[in-house]
Amino acid sequence: MQITHELKVAIAAVRLASTVTQAVQKHLVTADTLEKKDRSPVTVADFASQAVVCKALADAFPDDPIVGEEDAGELRETSNAVLLNSVVNQVARARSGASQDDVLSWIDRGGATPDGRTRRYWTLDPIDGTKGFLRAQQYAIALALIEDGRVVLGVLGCPNLPAKSLGESKEPGAVDTEQGNPQPGVLIATLLGRGTVSLPLNTATDEGTPIRVSDIQDTAKARFCESVESGHSNQSDSAKVAEALGITADPVRMDSQAKYAAVARGEASIYLRLPTSASYREKIWDHASGSIVVQEAGGTVTDAFGKPLDFTHGRTLEHNRGIIATGSGVHDRVVRAVGKFIR
Ligand code: AMP
Ligand code: MG
Repeated sequence: MQITHELKVAIAAVRLASTVTQAVQKHLVTADTLEKKDRSPVTVADFASQAVVCKALADAFPDDPIVGEEDAGELRETSNAVLLNSVVNQVARARSGASQDDVLSWIDRGGATPDGRTRRYWTLDPIDGTKGFLRAQQYAIALALIEDGRVVLGVLGCPNLPAKSLGESKEPGAVDTEQGNPQPGVLIATLLGRGTVSLPLNTATDEGTPIRVSDIQDTAKARFCESVESGHSNQSDSAKVAEALGITADPVRMDSQAKYAAVARGEASIYLRLPTSASYREKIWDHASGSIVVQEAGGTVTDAFGKPLDFTHGRTLEHNRGIIATGSGVHDRVVRAVGKFIR
């Protein structure tokens, strides 16, 4: 894949942000915070990651709007001075000398809301899968570029995903024990029309290895993945869909867009995200990067009704409900099976 300037900048930005999130996970996520269900480590990492990515994009592409998940308003409240201080300290790991004002202004860069006239913008989930981050399981830094309503570039940083996929015969995220336990951390990158590659997350190289989705045609042999959180995807509907497709293996539950990575690497054939309520609208930063990564690896991504994802309605996928992502050759069957159980 030819690495364009945009992709180079996006890869470097996600790598830099991941050094911050990995440090926060190592130092601030403790048995104590886990036990207390204390969310402060992920709050710090979320803001710090957004600051680092937005600063890198602002330097390279000063005119590009960025649609990020976080808003610095809360950080400016005097009652959050300790939180702000912690965010600034973490950002300084990646950007030494960063001041409070710098950090707040970088986070603010992510506050754009696209409208029908915004030709080109970036969208960022600085930490997708916050619960996975707190559990020291899967989370992702997800960055995508949208031009004329189409996702044209996607980068997923998955710090806790093993570097190498073992295919669909093993659980997604399984580690190759024969090879020892190589450092986890993978970065998946794609450009529209150019395929998807996997790169090491923690080594600064542009040398990517092409990845492909699974081409299992017999859905009974397929593995499917879904959210850990039953509030994010209807797990009783997905169990019925799996039964209708003859799937016998248990679902693999993972947080974050690491699920899209698992489908793109052929570790799972199907990712189901079935609506839990009629009113919820999926956020663009939860799907832009993951969807192009799967499509360019040879898969198909639609909403739960088989409709293409429509990125032309601001911060949400206003005209879509749920998600179905698959490897090659099974999408229509999965959409039909889902259609029997959802309205
Ligand atoms: P996951 O890790 O796949 O469970 O997805 C995490 C994402 O779910 C978060 O980034 C939220 O934006 C999103 N989310 C929050 N509430 C819902 C909901 N009711 N349905 C679907 N997604 C949701
Ligand atoms: Mg998210």
